[in-house]
Amino acid sequence: MSAFILDGKAIAAAIKQEIKDEIESKNIKCGLAVVLVGDDEASKVYVKNKIKACSQTGIKSYAYYLQPTAEENELLQLIDALNNDSNIHGILVQLPLPSHISPNKVISAINPKKDVDGFCAQNMGKLFLGETDMLAPCTPSGIIEILKRSNIEISGKNAVIVGRSNIVGKPIALMMLRENATVTITHSKTKDLKSITSLADILIVAAGKRELIDASMVKKGAVVVDVGIHRTEQGLKGDVKFDEASKIAQAITPVPGGVGPMTIAMLLKNTLKAAKDLLEIQ
Ligand code: NAD
Repeated sequence: MSAFILDGKAIAAAIKQEIKDEIESKNIKCGLAVVLVGDDEASKVYVKNKIKACSQTGIKSYAYYLQPTAEENELLQLIDALNNDSNIHGILVQLPLPSHISPNKVISAINPKKDVDGFCAQNMGKLFLGETDMLAPCTPSGIIEILKRSNIEISGKNAVIVGRSNIVGKPIALMMLRENATVTITHSKTKDLKSITSLADILIVAAGKRELIDASMVKKGAVVVDVGIHRTEQGLKGDVKFDEASKIAQAITPVPGGVGPMTIAMLLKNTLKAAKDLLEIQ
C-alpha cells in the first residue's frame, strides 16, 4: 500500500489564494522587506521564491542585498530604518548570515510586530507560553497547517520530532504539544534513534541529514513529515527515504512539494497578520 501524499504545494496554493482574496477585499497595503547578506546560492533561491510568492498575493516586496563583507552595524542600521518605515510590515533577514554577524543580535533588532519569521524572543516566548496571538515561526506553522488541512488528528498522538533547532525542532515540538500530542524530541546525541522513531504516530524529521530515516524507523500507518532539503544531482531530497517510507506510512510529505511551499505560504500569512495588526484592520 502506498501512503497518501500530503500535498504541501496544493495546500500552499490554497492559502496564497486566501491571502490574495483578503488583501483585495479589504484593500490592504502590505509590505515585506527581504534582506539578503552575501551570495549563498541556496539563500538566493529562497529569497527569489519569497519575492515571487509576494507578487502572487498582492504583497509588495522590498529586496535589500548587502555585500558578504557588510558590517554587522550596516545591517542593524538597515533594520532600524525598516522598523521605522510605515510601508514595511514584515522584515525577513535570510539566514544563515556570514559568520562575522551575530544572528541573535540581528533577530533581536527586528520589531517583534514585524518579525514575520517569528524568531525573536518575544514571539518565541509567546509560543512557549502557549499563546496564539503572535507571529509564529513559518516552517512549524506550515507543518501544523498541512496536518490540519489534511484532517490528520494530532490530539493524543505520539509525535516524535527529529531535530531540536530553534527554527524547526523546538517550535514544532511546542506547537504539537499545544495541539495535545505527546511529544518526544530527539537530536544528534539521541541513542538508538530507531527505537524512538518507530513509536511515532506522527514523525517530523528536521535533522538536515539526507535520507536519515529509512523504512525500518517508521511505524506502520504513521504520518511522516519530512522537513529536510538537500540539493543533489537527482534533484531535491529530504531527510527521509521517501520511496521506502511511503510504503509503510499512512501519509507522507514529499520533497519537493511538501513542507517547503508551506513555509513560504506561512511567511505571507504572517506578513498579512503583521500588516493588519500594525494598521489595526480586523
Ligand atoms: P539544524 O542543523 O539547525 O538542526 C538539525 C537538528 O537535527 C539538530 O538539532 C541536531 O541535533 C539534529 N540531528 C542532526 N543529526 C541527527 C541525527 N543523526 N539524529 C537525530 N538528530 C539529528 O537544521 P534546521 O535548520 O532545523 O533544518 C533541518 C533541515 O530542514 C535542513 O535540511 C534544512 O535545510 C531543512 N529546512 C527546511 C525548511 C523548509 O521550508 N522545508 C525550513 C527550514 C529548514
